[in-house]
Amino acid sequence: MGEAHLPIALGKVLEMQTTPRPLTSRSRAASPRLAESVSPPSPLSTYQTPVNPAPPPTNSDWVSTGHLPTQSVVQQLVDGAHQRFAGVGEGEVADYIPALAAANPDHFGICIAASDGQLFAAGQAEQPFSIQSISKPFLFALICQAIGEDAAKEKLGVNSTGLPFNSVLAVERSGEGLSNPMVNAGAIAATSLAPGDSAEAKWAFIEAGFSRFAGRQLEIDSTVYASERATNQSNVGIANLLSAQERLWFDPEISTDLYTRQCSLSITTRDLALMAATLGNGGRQPVSGDQVVDPVICQHVLAVMVTAGLYETSGDWLYDTGLPGKSGVSGGMITVIPGKGGLATYSPPLDDAGNSVRGQLTAQFLSERLGLNLFASRPAT
Ligand code: GLN
Repeated sequence: MGEAHLPIALGKVLEMQTTPRPLTSRSRAASPRLAESVSPPSPLSTYQTPVNPAPPPTNSDWVSTGHLPTQSVVQQLVDGAHQRFAGVGEGEVADYIPALAAANPDHFGICIAASDGQLFAAGQAEQPFSIQSISKPFLFALICQAIGEDAAKEKLGVNSTGLPFNSVLAVERSGEGLSNPMVNAGAIAATSLAPGDSAEAKWAFIEAGFSRFAGRQLEIDSTVYASERATNQSNVGIANLLSAQERLWFDPEISTDLYTRQCSLSITTRDLALMAATLGNGGRQPVSGDQVVDPVICQHVLAVMVTAGLYETSGDWLYDTGLPGKSGVSGGMITVIPGKGGLATYSPPLDDAGNSVRGQLTAQFLSERLGLNLFASRPAT
């Protein structure tokens, strides 16, 4: 996992840097051609004006995301996915954080939380595990809410790095220390932006925000926290590099420690489904009704999940599911289904990029069977 991918990715970087970039001149030439081929707009009088025109719709009137199939169909397919993929034996349990190696590779939980709070679960959906990188979209949402989505974008960056989640190269390559909040560098930088001028004030903000997303008080898994804290020198290195590039807004060691605490929060598949459903429900927790972040923040968070939620394999993921997703090295995954709810899975064996193997299979299966792909359309009749 991780650095094993560097040589290939580096090769691509070098190739990009040495290839001339004719895009600007090409796109300039393309624009006038495009304009000529579009027919001129019809005069307004062509359209009939209704006698009593309806009031102009507000933005939210135009949001259209459909709905999940009936309860029995959803439950059947969740059970079906569990049966179908429980026997998949590929992938390795992460061990670079020693405590994670203790996970049972056979554990497999699935849960869908609908936007109205209904839950559809199969397998070990109540098994606790540490949230790890699935914390990243929620932290980003909280930071966007606190400092504004434009400031968050400007300070952290939102472009995919195309590199592993723990890549130092990604930070060096951008020159300005920008990455995106779905990889370690961007997430540590985001953590440093948490409101408060002490470690404890910042932690209180993070812990309270995560608990609101989950709809219950979350706690740290102290074994995982201690284990990662003792072995996270490379994250401390990333934080120091960011600090040198003036892309960190608090002490590097404390920022890394806060990030590590947040990754160690203990959650279940059920919690994650509700947290994902909150992001897919305009920021409102489906069960508690708590408006955790504004609707517009969710749109930005989902956009970053689409481009970088599964790191260097985000393209494969999007191609297969058509949905925003986020993985974590403990084996959890979330998939947000805008307007409809959230899907979460837990299965510790990971692929080379650090994404749960059964989690990806489940998301693809359910996206296809439940009609969740955001890019799907049918010809008009
Ligand atoms: N806490 C882990 C780390 O920083 C999270 C990584 C992940 O889940 N991909 O390495």
